[in-house]
Order: sequence, then C-alpha cells, then structure tokens
Amino acid sequence: MPELPEVEVIRLELEPLVKGKTFAAPILHMPSTIQYPDPDVFVAALEGQTVKTLGRRGKYLLFYLVRGILVVHLRMTGNLIFNSNEDLPRADRFLRVELPFNDGSMLQYSDMRRFGRLWLVKDSQVLKNLVLKNVGPDIYTELNLEQFRTLLEKRGKRNLKALLLDQSCSAGMGNIYTDECLHLCHLHPEQQASKLTAAEAEKLYITIQQVLELGIEHGGTSFRDYRNARGALGDFQNKLSVYGRKGERCSCGALIEKTVVAGRGTYYCPCCQVNKEPVVKKRSTKKGETI
Ligand SMILES: [Zn+2]
Repeated sequence: MPELPEVEVIRLELEPLVKGKTFAAPILHMPSTIQYPDPDVFVAALEGQTVKTLGRRGKYLLFYLVRGILVVHLRMTGNLIFNSNEDLPRADRFLRVELPFNDGSMLQYSDMRRFGRLWLVKDSQVLKNLVLKNVGPDIYTELNLEQFRTLLEKRGKRNLKALLLDQSCSAGMGNIYTDECLHLCHLHPEQQASKLTAAEAEKLYITIQQVLELGIEHGGTSFRDYRNARGALGDFQNKLSVYGRKGERCSCGALIEKTVVAGRGTYYCPCCQVNKEPVVKKRSTKKGETI
C-alpha cells in the first residue's frame, strides 16, 4: 500500500510533467472510482481545467487546478502513471480511469483491488470539509516536535502502532514505515504511546522524519503493486531492517518476529524492542511537607 513517501515520489515526478497542461474529457472505465461529484459531473467539470501545481496531505495527492482541486487516493493497489503522447498506450486490464490532456499525453489510473478514489472539489474549503475532514496534519510537512509530543499525550492511551497508523491523528504513516521507525527506536509496537519519555518521543519524531526522507530519496518501497509516475519501481524495500523479514536476523542477532498489532501484520525484534511495563510514577510531596 502506498504510504507518504510513495505518494510524495509520485507528486515530485508528476509536477513538472503536468504543470500547465489542460485536461481533455476524462474516460471512466469504472465510474465508481469517482467518489465525488457524480461521475458525469466530474467529467464535465474536469474538461478544460489547467493544472497549476501539485500538493499532498498524507497519502492524498492534490492537483490544484485553475478552478478547483482534483484529489487522488491510491488506497491499496492504485497506480497513477503518466504517458506522454510518444509512449505506447499501456495494456492494463486494471485500468479504471484515463485523464487525457489536450496535447495527447495522459494520466492513467489503474487499480487491481478497486479501493482507490478520485474527487473533484471546487475549493480548499470543500477539500477540508469533504475529503480531508478526518485527516490530521501531514506528519512530514505539517507536524513539529511539540505537536507530536502533544499528540502522544492527548491521544496516546493506545499503543504506538495504532496511534501512528491513525490518519486522523497524523497523516502519512502506514504499516511499513511505522514498523521500521519503531524498530530503529527500539520501541515495542504495543507500548502505550503516552508512556514515552521526552527523549524517546524526540527520537521517534526525528527517526520518522529521517526514514520518510530516505524513503522518498529511494523512490519509495515497491513490494507488489507500487509504481512511480513513470511506471518504475522504488528500491527502499532493500533498505528495510525489519518489515517483511520474519525469521531473518536483526542486526542484534535475534530472529525477527511477526505478530498482529492494531489489526495489521507487524514485524519487530523481540530483543531490541521490549515492551516495557507501564511505569507507575511516585507522587511527589511538597517541600517541607511531613509524611
Ligand atoms: Zn534486534
């Protein structure tokens, strides 16, 4: 499933390719891919619209148009590929939507599992209220350390994995990058999030930023379905220290295990990532007070 780095790689690659281009009439092979508005309204409203710039919030890719915003969420197996008019048309039985430009090039959206969705909204207010209503700040670009600490305190009754995956708290983390970050920080995925020390919280925040940046630099992680905007694979899967490596050795020598946390397959090292018992704080007494 594409996570923040994969969507950011697509954004970085697509922007120079589509900026300034004007959409021709979209072709909907599977109209239910369009979440909003009705498919026929979507087709009529997108035709003639010019792309100004591209943005992203978490795993949502945003095309800012002269009038409105086109939103794409790839979900499990979506791919958004750019084809110039010199490229051969792609034969893809999972092709769901084609978004041609008036110069003959086009964006092709394919999706094996069919969970991905497209929206076309008139402005950022509708984007906020309709599409991103339950989406928190982007963990890579919109959340500073203080806000991350507050998040751990206020919504940290759950375990770390559940909190980091919750897109309404912070947007962008998925299964792969969460397991990697927790392993690098020697934190057990089931540890209660609010129990992190200040130092642990800071290390986790910095690690998340570094791992996401590295993921972007490596073109994202390609296990099964993810392709970048030109159809190429990322190679961050070769850098993973724990995800997908059940039974292999951690750098400490112990064998990596797989369990289920927050309903997701979770990889961790039982030696490096020990679930600490919740610390019971002693109550401090006021100075001079007799006990
Ligand atoms: Zn280990």
